[in-house]
Amino acid sequence: MRSTDNFTMPDNLKHLIDKLTDTRQLTKDEWIRLITGRTPDLAEYLFTLARIEQQRHYGHGVYIRGLIEFTNYCKNDCLYCGIRRSNSHARRYRLSEEDILSCCQTGYELGFRTFVLQGGEDAYYTDEKMVSLITHIKGLYPDCAVTLSIGEKSFDSYRRFFDAGADRYLLRHETHNPEHYSRLHPPSLTASARQECLWNLKEIGYQVGTGFMVGSPCQTPEHLAEDMLFIKELNPQMVGIGPFISHHDTPFASWESGSLELTLFMLGLLRLMLPKVLLPATTALGTIHPEGRELGILAGANVVMPNLSPAGVRKDYLLYDNKICTGDEAAECRKHLEERMESIGYHVVTARGDSLNL
Ligand code: SAH
Repeated sequence: MRSTDNFTMPDNLKHLIDKLTDTRQLTKDEWIRLITGRTPDLAEYLFTLARIEQQRHYGHGVYIRGLIEFTNYCKNDCLYCGIRRSNSHARRYRLSEEDILSCCQTGYELGFRTFVLQGGEDAYYTDEKMVSLITHIKGLYPDCAVTLSIGEKSFDSYRRFFDAGADRYLLRHETHNPEHYSRLHPPSLTASARQECLWNLKEIGYQVGTGFMVGSPCQTPEHLAEDMLFIKELNPQMVGIGPFISHHDTPFASWESGSLELTLFMLGLLRLMLPKVLLPATTALGTIHPEGRELGILAGANVVMPNLSPAGVRKDYLLYDNKICTGDEAAECRKHLEERMESIGYHVVTARGDSLNL
């Protein structure tokens, strides 16, 4: 290669981005080449195209979701997660139905029209309790969407929650590759069971969100390529990705975190692959860099999920170290976010914000 231009943006990789824009897919080998060979200039080119798609479908609007982290009890022992069962240092809490409804009220007044109920897999919240909670929220706020993010359940449980009014479900597949999955999870959890849940959720009629961590321990470009192929096949309504960030009380305490740069690159690729998908600029992205979420939006993301959990429990829902926004009140978070989005020429939209990717 002669010129610096060619060196920083190899033609063959630019062609792959063009091909992705035209056909919305790549082969496994092409994904690997693109991810492995990426350069800063190539990333800028990608982000320019990703923003064109983002703005074509969603304008400069950024949807907000109110995240309510309602329990940090968990029966699972995922090796990366700070609220894993065997972390005896985690201070466990559960919010009551009353607490959760009060979060919704605060959120509603602040303009949130989606409530995301996220938690560990906590047997205290039986199907009956979840159904009661969903029914109450939908009764009080019929114009709002309820999103669940409570892990792996049976087909019947998913159906009961859906029949009670739940609209959406977030369940990251974490990594598609079974061998890689088994390095991140205890033997009781498998990649195929996780994926089966996603297909069940789709069949029932949920708007489904999946996703993965970027830079999780032992992850290779090949794994990321498999993630892209799986996501294309699943065709979800939302894809949540964020960098892996180590937590000091887990077996992965000393692993390096995923990078801002690769996370942004993957966001751009996702926007080109599924132009209408909802793509959050996640809290983890905001945690590894002070402008992480803004940069995420500029790479193609169009959703942010500020925290609505009561300030008193926020620091206990610590999936990873240094998590941001654990001190702020919901209203503060909301205001800061609005200012941050405006600083990059975008604005917060207070609408349900259903996915255009059907
Ligand atoms: N129990 C629910 C919710 C899990 S928490 C479930 O099983 O889906 C939501 C997401 O946080 C997880 O899917 C995981 O991708 C992410 N997460 C967990 N630990 C993390 C870490 N150390 N760094 C970055 N992301 C993490």
